[in-house]
Amino acid sequence: MIGIIRKGNQILRVGVDQQRCDSSGVCVVELPQVFRFQEGSKKATVSMAEIPARLEQQCWEVARKCPTRAISITCCENDS
Ligand code: SF4
Repeated sequence: MIGIIRKGNQILRVGVDQQRCDSSGVCVVELPQVFRFQEGSKKATVSMAEIPARLEQQCWEVARKCPTRAISITCCENDS
């Protein structure tokens, strides 16, 4: 799943590259409100479609800590 963070009239898209994820669990441990393991594959995924804006900074931090750089945050698209 791709999660979005709304910033005014722009959106950030947060996602996990399933090919890159090595199931280390850093994101799941540090930000369980946003990331969880999928049943079966044990790859991480975003668990909510709309991520509260107050969690944006933590998303960036977890993306930076991901050992395989599997977490992408794409900035920005107009929400039109
Ligand atoms: S931190 Fe990165 S590699 Fe580890 S589970 Fe999360 S997305 Fe996968």
